[in-house]
Amino acid sequence: MPKGYKGFQRGHETFITVDGYKRIAQKLLGNQNALGFVPSIATRLKRSASMKGKNTWMRGRHPAPEAIRKSVEKRSGSGHWNWKGGISPLNYEIRQSKEYITWRHAVYRRDAWQCVVCGVKCGAHNIIAHHFLPFSECKQYRLDTRNGITLCRSCHYRLHHLMNKLLAVPEIRNLVLSYRNDSGA
Ligand SMILES: [Zn+2]
Ligand SMILES: [Zn+2]
Repeated sequence: MPKGYKGFQRGHETFITVDGYKRIAQKLLGNQNALGFVPSIATRLKRSASMKGKNTWMRGRHPAPEAIRKSVEKRSGSGHWNWKGGISPLNYEIRQSKEYITWRHAVYRRDAWQCVVCGVKCGAHNIIAHHFLPFSECKQYRLDTRNGITLCRSCHYRLHHLMNKLLAVPEIRNLVLSYRNDSGA
């Protein structure tokens, strides 16, 4: 990463900095409660053995395909709590636009095509330009290179799980939303 680059910040030094993200990500990687953590084979075998013969809630329950389909339908599309009225085609269009591709490459170039969390040199299929301030909420920062960070796919995946948890904290959610500009594109 270039010297002196501190990531996106505007008076929020501890939360939105590359070092802040790195610290959080490092904690997450060693955290057994984090999503995506896989225990060792020995541990899993032990757990499996201790469950043998016990009744678990799923034992003997095999919902009919029709019931599964119905329950999925209830929770997807307009039935989903976070449904925003079918905006994906628009987002897709923006992400394929010339300006967006230029932004992405500027971010990659600045970070020397390396994941800023784990330092791996990213190939074309293992690279993401992530937005500090969420793409969907903070429209005026979508094409601001200060709001972009280069990540490999697995660090990006972990980071989003973490962000989902962080955004559930009212102070952090409000901080992010304070950057929102609804009059933007
Ligand atoms: Zn990485
Ligand atoms: Zn992202």
